Amino acid sequence: MDGRARPGHGGHRSAAYRRVRRRSVSLRAGADDRRGGCAVASAWRRPLGYPLRQVHACRLTVARTPTPWRRASLPPSRRTRHTVDYIALSRALHALGRTGEGGAVAPADRGLSAARRSRQAAPYSTHEEFQTGASAMSEHELTQEQRLIRASVRAIAEKHFKPKAAEVDRTRRPPVEHIKTLAEAGFVGVFIPEEYGGPGRNLLDLVIVVEEVARCCANTAILVGCTDGATPRAILHLGSAEQKKKYLPRIAKGELLCAWGMSEANAGSDIGNIQCKAVKDGDHYVINGAKLWCSGAQVSDMFLVLVRLDPAPGLRGVGAILVERGTPGFSVGKHLDLIGFRGTGMAELVFEDCRVPAQNLMLPAGQMGKLLQVFNSDRIATNPPICLGVAQAAFEAAVAYSKQRVQFRKPIAEQQGVQWKLADMAIDLEAARALLYRAAARVDAGKGSAVDASITKVYVNEMSRRVTDTAMQLHGAFGLSEEFPMERMFRDVRGMSVGYGTTEIHRNLIGREILDGRYSA
Ligand SMILES: Cc1cc2nc3c(=O)[nH]c(=O)nc-3n(C[C@H](O)[C@H](O)[C@H](O)COP(=O)(O)OP(=O)(O)OC[C@H]3O[C@@H](n4cnc5c(N)ncnc54)[C@H](O)[C@@H]3O)c2cc1C
Repeated sequence: MDGRARPGHGGHRSAAYRRVRRRSVSLRAGADDRRGGCAVASAWRRPLGYPLRQVHACRLTVARTPTPWRRASLPPSRRTRHTVDYIALSRALHALGRTGEGGAVAPADRGLSAARRSRQAAPYSTHEEFQTGASAMSEHELTQEQRLIRASVRAIAEKHFKPKAAEVDRTRRPPVEHIKTLAEAGFVGVFIPEEYGGPGRNLLDLVIVVEEVARCCANTAILVGCTDGATPRAILHLGSAEQKKKYLPRIAKGELLCAWGMSEANAGSDIGNIQCKAVKDGDHYVINGAKLWCSGAQVSDMFLVLVRLDPAPGLRGVGAILVERGTPGFSVGKHLDLIGFRGTGMAELVFEDCRVPAQNLMLPAGQMGKLLQVFNSDRIATNPPICLGVAQAAFEAAVAYSKQRVQFRKPIAEQQGVQWKLADMAIDLEAARALLYRAAARVDAGKGSAVDASITKVYVNEMSRRVTDTAMQLHGAFGLSEEFPMERMFRDVRGMSVGYGTTEIHRNLIGREILDGRYSA
């Protein structure tokens, strides 16, 4: 499409539209600032505020550096070489930290006049801890190794996932090859213990991985749940020795993808109303029924299915069983298209006299409390970091666009009303990240709780809706155009307030904990 008049297209495009279109075309063509490309294009192509040289140095080092937790298993000769790389990367990380990783405080802005810049910088420059250009606050909570994980995953996601994000959304094709890319770099099955072939890392490490993937491609981040989500976690904590041995090593290699089927047409928030039934028949269970809204269904090899095993009412009669793809009587139904996350292969699951070996039973009736405990950790590990990553990307794009977009003869970033919007987004992101990292760290310290998971999920879900909405508003009509990523980010985060327990249901839980005296602020 160009700027010429077309029937039904409302005449000539505005000059501003043509300017931005040219820029987005040059972005796709790979123009960068060294070749005279525009500021917004180059800002979109690299993390905001990173000098290009530093990013390249960092990426080169990352490419040669194995995942930190894999390094220990390398032969000594290779380990030494990579130790040198690790130090180089650490230096790069340190430098990045000083230039504003996380983007909460942007480095010196060429768009602002020198006078205004010095006026802003002066009050802080004498206090080391309040320098302008410092890292986002929560960055300081991370260990050096976690910063290395962040930089490594960011480099992979920027290079491999971000360029495909729009296409994945448009074509509805789940990008399973991205899981392979993560697996090759050692970033799948993050929490799976070493005895099953995983790195045995903690929840906060996984949160960082998911956040960074989502910052570049939300659909890929949902698919990370196929190797690091509810089903693998349930197998690890509740599975039999045989189930762990059979499935976990393949999940840790990214060879076996898993999904989970809980929701049904008449059992959404009220999972005690699950009707999908499994009846024991000799050494098999026979399953009949259907599941809805199963993320990753179209690409998964194995499914954790919640079934009614017993006529006892409510959750007391519900248990869980593992069903492999290809089991006779089991089929993955039609693709379900939602407002966002269109490339996650969401589908319904259909069971018609599906015979599953009895040893696939993971949880007998009456023990659902154990599975809900596992879901609490998973609720922190997957849903909120996706929201955080997408909101971070929206914020970075909004900052870049505000500096570049000229109205009334100056960048809109120079309008105080715009600066306040950016400030509110930064405040929201910082609060959400601090809450999420703390919730993950508490699980890692053995102090996790359902109320922590609920408070975190509700806040981060709603934060991402506010931030993506503001980012879209700051882009004006361009923000609503499919040519820009804003509208996709806005659509993608919307469903997260419904998936994995609606924000209302989580508020119910928080309210109950308060009134029962188990929680006080
Ligand atoms: C992006 C996404 C991914 C998903 N992935 C999966 C998946 O992989 N596997 C899976 O099994 N399911 C999945 N789901 C389904 C999800 O778990 C359900 O949508 C969710 O549990 C809500 O159920 P429902 O849609 O039937 O809404 P309902 O339960 O019918 O709720 C409708 C409305 O009523 C409100 N409401 C209901 N009860 C109460 C109450 N007691 N108090 C106050 N308000 C109430 C709800 O908050 C909501 O606003 C996914 C959903 C989404 C959006």
